[in-house]
This record gives sequence, structure tokens and C-alpha cells, in this order.
Amino acid sequence: MNLILAAVPVFLLLILVELAVNHYRKAGVYRLNDAVASMSTGMLSQTMGFATRFVGFLAYSALWTVLPHGEVTMSPLLWVVAFVFYDFCYYWNHRAQHTINVLWGIHVVHHQSEEYNLTTALRQPFNGFLIGSVFYLPMLFIGFPPEVIVTVGSLNLIYQYWVHTRLINTLGWMEKVFVTPMNHRVHHAINDPYIDRNFGGVFILWDRLFGTYQAELAEHPCAYGVRKALHSWNPFFANAHVHWQLLKDSWHAERWQDKFRIWFMPTGWRPDDVNERFPLPRCLPETQQKFNPPVPAALSVAVLIVHILLILVTVTFLLMVPVSNFTQALAHFIPLGGGLWLNCRILEGKPEAVLHSAVFWGLCALLPWWYEGWLVAPLASSLIFLFVAFLMPLTARRGHVYAKLSP
Ligand SMILES: [Zn+2]
Ligand SMILES: [Zn+2]
Repeated sequence: MNLILAAVPVFLLLILVELAVNHYRKAGVYRLNDAVASMSTGMLSQTMGFATRFVGFLAYSALWTVLPHGEVTMSPLLWVVAFVFYDFCYYWNHRAQHTINVLWGIHVVHHQSEEYNLTTALRQPFNGFLIGSVFYLPMLFIGFPPEVIVTVGSLNLIYQYWVHTRLINTLGWMEKVFVTPMNHRVHHAINDPYIDRNFGGVFILWDRLFGTYQAELAEHPCAYGVRKALHSWNPFFANAHVHWQLLKDSWHAERWQDKFRIWFMPTGWRPDDVNERFPLPRCLPETQQKFNPPVPAALSVAVLIVHILLILVTVTFLLMVPVSNFTQALAHFIPLGGGLWLNCRILEGKPEAVLHSAVFWGLCALLPWWYEGWLVAPLASSLIFLFVAFLMPLTARRGHVYAKLSP
């Protein structure tokens, strides 16, 4: 059973609750473009990432069959110990992903949002399980079956969802034991005292034990994001952001050893010669300029409706994966991947993206001719196409509309 998929209705419901409280308190913790981009990376993580998680599970299962182990009794104690042990491994996995350039290139996706709300929790890389799974091998060697590891892993991820909010302050004694909204806000902040702090997933005890704990300080209000800002809503580029920069730096480095070692050096390290010739702007709390290109309101509404339909396509994809074949998966992934990419292009203020969307969805409306299985994806695509086509007259003078919005 896919626990993450089962939790999706709760995730969406809680976003609606947070939106309502945000509106009532006029807290200003949501932006449509940022929320759509965060959810888009989450949708890619669940769909494209499905393959890597499946390969990881197969590898664990194969290893389990050759490892010497006795009969395992699924007692409540076993589940509790597995849950705590998993979080211990998660702490080191998370800490390593913040510490080494190549691993940071995977985990950075979770930190790119310059806002902090429940949609930020959904920002996940699609290739995280490939390297992350190494850190849970000790559980397998000790004798926890792969299905137990996967289940407590899903529960761990589900727990982390609710802590991504600015609308809950401090929580008394819970701050001492558990990861909470307050101490996880610190983890996402780019202020100097908060860098590389609070790595726990469920228990903050590990941070207290290993010297990486930091409470939120009144004199340092959290500024969110990453020091080398992404400045794009593209969910595919979000996953390549740091690795692309590492590749360019590696290419530009003069010394051969720098070309190689840059991947394994501490996060942010660059060869001196590259730093001198290609300096990168650093995003600091005092000077942070949030990425927020202006977009006409009608297009934002269109993107939101398309986005809701794409959530339906994602859920359909995940429901049918266990019984699907390659054609079925592709028939869902084409509109999903293309739709997420085009939506983000529109939100980046690229006028031509509206026309590209209309052409793309027009082609997707032809999917039923090629594919005669589930109709949800092509049907949703056709609906979106009609909607975008309806908007075309509104955006005929799009050049003017964008020009007026430009600063
Ligand atoms: Zn992190
Ligand atoms: Zn987080």
C-alpha cells in the first residue's frame, strides 16, 4: 500500500486549512507561483521518482534474501524500534546531504522555496532514494525486513509534512523531543546562525545529542530559500540546479584534481580560479530579492485550474502504476510532465508559453486516438486545452499586458 498516496487527501485538505488561516490572519505566507512550483516538484518526485524508489526496493529485497536472518515477528515493539532507528539513519542521511556538494545537489530541491508553508513540504527531489537508501542499509543488516523499512520511511515523511508552517509558534515540551514547526523553520532559513542546523526528521533529540540544534531567535527572523537562489519555477531544472552549476565549475576549473574533487567537497566549495573568474551572487537575508515575476491575473487563474487537473492526473498515475504497462504510464506522464513545465513557464512571465500551452494541450487532446485505456489523462488534457484556448483572446495583447506589469 502506498501510504504517501493515501495521505494526499489529508495533505491537500491541510493546505486549504492553512490557506484559510493565512487569509483570516492576513499572514502573507502564500504565493500562487511559489506554491504551484513546490507542488510541481512533489508531483515529479512521486511519478518520476517512482522508478528509483522501486529499483531501491528491489535491491533491498534482493539483499534481504541473501542476508542471514531468523524468522522476524512483526510485534508492536519491532515497529517502534524500526521507527526510531529509521529516524536516526535519516538524521545522518539528511546531514550528509547538506554537507557534500554532490548530495546537496539532490536535497537542494527541498530548500529552494523562498516561502515556508505546507506546499514547501511537498518540494522533494525525484532521485533522492538512489543515494539516500545507502543510509538505511544498517537497518537491513540488523534484521529489519525491507517492507518494514519502507513503511516506517513513509510514516517518517508523512510526519514531516505538518512542520512546514509559519502559522504555529512554539509548542512547549514538544520542542525538546520532536521536530516542530519552530525548529524546522530554522532548518530552512539562510540566516548565518541557522545554516546546517536541525537535521532530524521526527525527533530533534539527535540534533541535541550531536550538537546541531538551534532554536529560532527573535533577533534573526527566518529568511527562507538557498544562498544560491534558483530563480526559476521549472521543476525539472530545480532538480538539476546545483549539479548543472557543479558541471560548469568542473569544466571551467584549470586543475584536474579540482575538476574531480569539486563534487565531493563541502557544500558551496568552488576552486579559487573558478570563483575569481565566475563569481556567483549570494542571497543573504538582508538583501534577499524574492523571485516573483508579474503575471496577468487571468493567466494565474488558468494555471491554477490546469494545476488542479494535473494533480488528478498524478493521482490517477499513482493509482494505476501497480497494474499498468509502459504505454499507460507514458500516456499519463506526457501530459503531466509537459503540463508542469508549461505552467511554470507561464508563471515565469514568458508570453510565448501561452501559445505553446495551447498547441501542447491540443496535441494531448489527440491522445485517446493513440491510447484506448484509461481516459482520465487525455480527458483532463482536453479540458485544459479548451480552457487555455478560451483564454487566448484574453491574451492576444499579451505583450502589452506583460509590458505593463514589468517593473
Ligand atoms: Zn534539509
Ligand atoms: Zn523541510
